[in-house]
Amino acid sequence: MTSAPTIRLLKDIDEPGLATLEVYERLGGYAAMRKAITEMDPDEVLQQISESDVRGRGGAGFAMGKKAGFIPKGDMDKYLVCNADESEPGAFKDRVLIQRNPHLLIEGCIIAARAIGANKSFIYIRGEYELQSDILEAAVAEAYEAGYLGRDILDLEFDLDLVVHRGAGAYICGEETGLLDSLEGKRGNPRLKPPFPANAGLYQGPTLINNVETLCNVPLVIGMGVEEYRKVGSEKSTGTKVVSVSGNVQRPGNYEVPLGTTIREIVCGLAGGPPEGREIKCFFPGGSSAPVLTGDESLDLAYDFETMAQAGSMLGSGSIIVVDDSQPLVPLALRLAEFYRHESCGKCVPCREGTNWTVKMLERVESGEATPMDLELLQQVQTNIEGNCLCVLGDSMAMPIGSMLEKFRDEFERHAEEARVRNEGALVEQGAPELAASPRIGPA
Ligand code: SF4
Repeated sequence: MTSAPTIRLLKDIDEPGLATLEVYERLGGYAAMRKAITEMDPDEVLQQISESDVRGRGGAGFAMGKKAGFIPKGDMDKYLVCNADESEPGAFKDRVLIQRNPHLLIEGCIIAARAIGANKSFIYIRGEYELQSDILEAAVAEAYEAGYLGRDILDLEFDLDLVVHRGAGAYICGEETGLLDSLEGKRGNPRLKPPFPANAGLYQGPTLINNVETLCNVPLVIGMGVEEYRKVGSEKSTGTKVVSVSGNVQRPGNYEVPLGTTIREIVCGLAGGPPEGREIKCFFPGGSSAPVLTGDESLDLAYDFETMAQAGSMLGSGSIIVVDDSQPLVPLALRLAEFYRHESCGKCVPCREGTNWTVKMLERVESGEATPMDLELLQQVQTNIEGNCLCVLGDSMAMPIGSMLEKFRDEFERHAEEARVRNEGALVEQGAPELAASPRIGPA
């Protein structure tokens, strides 16, 4: 497609001392910020971000320029918030970016804040990321020292404060309005929308919220220019993506690829494919919240926002979890459901009750107590959760579990039947043969 470099965000990631200002600047860091502040007015910066079509890398894939464009103009308190609450099972790319290249994120925050006219910014980092938080705070201190943050940045009339705020370990605080509540010192509960954060966000002020990787793309857009930036990726999914590959692959890790690269190249090429002698049963293309994809043909799909949506799943945060044919799906589904039940804030009924009942029904399938109705009911519960919750957490459980049930119904039935037979055998051995007549799953 192009000879433009396809490794951008991770280009210098192994450079010793990259987390320090000295090394970051030696490699060209903060040049884009200088350009954005001294050579461009804020509207031009926003225009470039919009024309780059850089899309949110945190899950929703919403165009950053469009989102930033919703922030009202004029003199008022506005906020830029970076969502670094990376908690999705399977996602670990923001961790690496923060730990190894914190100044890239800070530079992205400064440029984005300049574009929307914000003078206060926050990086809300996952509570468990203690090391990354310390590294980030040290980098922020260096940026203040160098005059890139604080009053009159680069001796111009532009002020920006940046605060690193650690969460307390709640997945729901990765939901943008839950994050804002948490940042305000409240319990992290999602808010009703509208109003959207662009109009009434942090402290009820206009707020732009973007993910770490999204903001790390901003210095690239400004530094290399829109045309160069768009040379990599596909028409509607521009740029590169840092993909976290985990599960049953030989080389799990973070790989940066142009959006539109085939999944086969990522999973079987870069990540080495499944272990010797194993086949891929299915994979989650966008973290544990994404509906699973199956079949050889899915591996040949382009890894971009549109193709994943057309295939009935999503790119999400860009985390591929591979499941090979040695893995039973029922315990996997149960583990997922337990996670979402634990993380549900409990504010709305479909999610609070639905995650709980899903766990209970999967426990019955796993233990051999399931009745023939249970799998049917399990599927119905997922359908009733989808689209009926206040935030995406309910769907985040219902979509992957619903897709597993739909695509692997026979495996769920077999698993339940085998567990039941095992139970009966154990009961007969213990002298309770009458219980062997308990109901069966699926056709007799
Ligand atoms: Fe809370 Fe779940 Fe409702 Fe989201 S969907 S508001 S996490 S109960």
